[in-house]
Amino acid sequence: MRLIFFGPPGSGKGTQAKLLSEEFGISHISTGDLLRAAMANRTPLGIKAKSFMDAGNLVPDEVMIKLIHEVLESEQAKNGFILDGFPRTVAQAEALDAMFAELGIVLDRVISLRVEHDEIIRRLTDRLTCSSCGRIYNSSQLQKDHPDRCPYCAGELYQRPDDTPATARHRLEVYLKETKPLKEFYRNSDRFTQIDGMQPISNVHEIVVRLLTKD
Ligand code: AMP
Repeated sequence: MRLIFFGPPGSGKGTQAKLLSEEFGISHISTGDLLRAAMANRTPLGIKAKSFMDAGNLVPDEVMIKLIHEVLESEQAKNGFILDGFPRTVAQAEALDAMFAELGIVLDRVISLRVEHDEIIRRLTDRLTCSSCGRIYNSSQLQKDHPDRCPYCAGELYQRPDDTPATARHRLEVYLKETKPLKEFYRNSDRFTQIDGMQPISNVHEIVVRLLTKD
C-alpha cells in the first residue's frame, strides 16, 4: 500500500497515518518528524531546516526532494508507505511523480483531509506530542492526574514550538498559498479521495480503512 495523506496542518494527517501504519504494518514517513529528528541530532539537514521550521515556513524544495528520494530508495519504503507532509508544493509533487516513475512505484491513493480554518488553529494550539512514542493528543485526552505524561507510554508531553498561536496562523497561510493548490494537481485523478476531517479520529480512521480495503 502506497499512500499520500494530504491536508492542512492540524487536519489529523499524522494521527491517521500513525493509526494506519500500526494496523497495516507499513512505514509512516513524516517529513516533519524526519526534520525534527535531524534538528535534535544537529545534522547538516537539521541545521539547514531549523530557521524555516521555527518560523513556520516551508523548507526549500530541493532539500525536501533530496530527503524524500533517499527515503523512497531505502528499505523503509520497500513494503509500502504512507507519506505524511510531503508533497507540500507543486514542484515537490512533480518531483515525486518523477521519482515514482524512476523507482517503479505505483501510488494507490491520495487521501485529503478537510478541516475548517478556525478548527485548525484551535487544534494546533491545543496539541501536545509525546517525546517518546510520538503520539499526538489534545488537552481533553490527557489523564487528569498526569496531564504532562503520555497516556499510552508515560513519555513526557511537549508543545511543538511551531504550534504557538502566531506561528500556527502563519502555517495556515503558508498552507493556503503553497500547498492547497496541490489539490488541483491530484483532484482529477481517480486515486484522489477527500474525507471530512472534522469528524472524530475513530470515524475518520474507519472511513479510511473501508476505502482502502475495498480497493
Ligand atoms: P509537519 O510536522 O508536517 O507539520 O511539518 C513541520 C514543519 O516541517 C513545516 O512547517 C515545515 O517547516 C517543515 N516541512 C515538513 N514537510 C515539509 C515539506 N514537504 N516541504 C517543506 N517543508 C516541510
